[in-house]
Amino acid sequence: MSAVVRSLNIVHLYPELLNLYGDGGNIITLTKRLEWRGLGACVAEVAISDTPTFADADIVFIGGGSDREQAIVCEHLLERRAELSSFVEDGGVLLAVCGGYQLLGHSYAMGDDVLEGLGLVDMETRRGAPRLIGNVAVESPVSPQPVVGYENHGGRTTLGEGVEPLGRVVFGHGNDGESGKEGCLYRNVLGTYVHGPLLPKNPGVADWLLSRALDRRCGDGSLDPLDDAVELAANKVMVDRLLSGEEKE
Ligand code: GLN
Repeated sequence: MSAVVRSLNIVHLYPELLNLYGDGGNIITLTKRLEWRGLGACVAEVAISDTPTFADADIVFIGGGSDREQAIVCEHLLERRAELSSFVEDGGVLLAVCGGYQLLGHSYAMGDDVLEGLGLVDMETRRGAPRLIGNVAVESPVSPQPVVGYENHGGRTTLGEGVEPLGRVVFGHGNDGESGKEGCLYRNVLGTYVHGPLLPKNPGVADWLLSRALDRRCGDGSLDPLDDAVELAANKVMVDRLLSGEEKE
């Protein structure tokens, strides 16, 4: 009898519109980390002309983009809000970066224009000045190492009462440049401003997502360890640089 191969369905939303600062690299990291463990991955790229379905999804990914691209995408996604909400409430794993992260909340106010959000997470975003730009490091319960990367956003995100951040900013700006909070964690939703892309230098975050998705899919979220020497060296270069004071905020 052959062993059951654990495999995940990954839905990549609108890669042609939301792919700032190499966000698509997150998909490569997820699929490679499955492959290196002998696990399967099937990636469905959703274009703006497609109707996405989340019925058989394990991980949904939505990257960052400009305000203009966000508005296009949001209109389409709002039509699928109920299905996406069921996915989230059922424990589906959703990773959203920057522009995609902002869309998870109730609204994104851009001056007089207010973009209605998906309302999947109790949070809201307002555009402010100046833009919050630079490298970022975040201490987070989902990663043994600080989460490192790059942020560039005008939006300031405020989390609702009881919504956990991804973590605490130790370098950079995070959600609003003031609260010390970065990102959000809600059920198996991870929202963040961290580009770079996020996952290659933060293997702990990648495995947190994979473990949650595998647990939901087949009741076994265990993951064989990988040799992460290269990934952790890349992470350490940034952590050392940012926390040593070598780089100014
Ligand atoms: N348009 C959003 C902002 O500037 C998100 C930008 C991004 O995804 N980097 O706040």
